[in-house]
Amino acid sequence: EEISPWTWHHRGSSEDSYLNGRPDNRQNAAIVVLTRNSDLRELVFAIKQFEKRINNKFNYPYVVLNDVPFTVDFMTTLSKFTASNITFGLIPSSHWSIPEGINMDISLQTRIQNKANNVIYGDSLSYQHMCRFYSGFFYKHPLMLKYEFYWRIEPDVDYYCNIDYDPFLYMKQNNKLYSFVISLKEIPTTIPSLYEHTLRYAVDNNLSSSFFNFFSNKDGSYNLCHFWSNFEIASFKFFRSELYEKYFNYLDSTGNFYYERWGDAPIHSLAAGLFLSPDQIHFFDDIGYRHDKFSHCRQPQNQLEPLIINENVCYCPPNVETIDFKPFSCIPNYLDFYSIPWSKPQFSYAL
Ligand code: GDP
Ligand code: MN
Repeated sequence: EEISPWTWHHRGSSEDSYLNGRPDNRQNAAIVVLTRNSDLRELVFAIKQFEKRINNKFNYPYVVLNDVPFTVDFMTTLSKFTASNITFGLIPSSHWSIPEGINMDISLQTRIQNKANNVIYGDSLSYQHMCRFYSGFFYKHPLMLKYEFYWRIEPDVDYYCNIDYDPFLYMKQNNKLYSFVISLKEIPTTIPSLYEHTLRYAVDNNLSSSFFNFFSNKDGSYNLCHFWSNFEIASFKFFRSELYEKYFNYLDSTGNFYYERWGDAPIHSLAAGLFLSPDQIHFFDDIGYRHDKFSHCRQPQNQLEPLIINENVCYCPPNVETIDFKPFSCIPNYLDFYSIPWSKPQFSYAL
């Protein structure tokens, strides 16, 4: 089977049948995955969990993207793990390449330097492409254009608990545009000039938003807080706005996707700070989630709490601790910002 740039492969329920009137309140939404052929095993793990915990109730379609063609083996294997429609797409090379005007010698030098300084992924050009793609292009992909909302998942993520309601419907009904489960502090060496450029953009465009304060220290510097974008449920309206586009183009014009190692997560977050109001952001506290070593879940106050309190909370599995109250977490900042009372859980599983 030949895979040319705009060929794709469907599997599962007929395309967009869920869009016909949506009698069951299903939203115009897709599950979005960027992945490599070599991520198959880890992605199968993630999708098995995602289907079991959530999507088998809703059958939201998947859009799975790659910068190179998927192998037939990848597509047929992955399709076995969901009854939903899956569409596989190729990313146009202009969305995954170094833009004009970048000095390639300097770009290479900074990657060498990053490696010497142990900047995580700092020596990887493909990682820089990935961050730029998720900052300015994923929402422009032809397969994405018809959707209003997306839920981003990644290979190897885990979902700990069943989710019995539709998070997309929650977003829609409550006028939310961006949401997160994990918020933490960015590694400063990856974004030396991102905050400064963001402030310059804000000043040049006369922007002021109360939510931007979530990201600043008392002295006006960046507190490094951001929302981890490996989980995102958000509205494309947020990204497909003139202001976001202008912000991305400004950031891109600095060249710093390739001179520094800007992540898409702090960019999405600072954009939320610039363009959204606090009530348009949602913390999915009830979703138990893991990416890499970091988890968000409700840490019980004692061993018995999960047995006694049987409400809709997602308790951490044994031997898992939530990152929420670790020193590099921004959940305390978030709870303080929204004046939500909190206390650090006293109980911890013996690890
Ligand atoms: P981390 O989450 O920051 O540790 O980075 P990951 O390695 O998980 O990459 C983030 C996402 O981008 C994952 O969904 C990866 O599968 C995907 N990704 C990263 N690099 C590439 C790449 O070069 N090509 C493709 N197609 N996907 C990539
Ligand atoms: Mn990841």
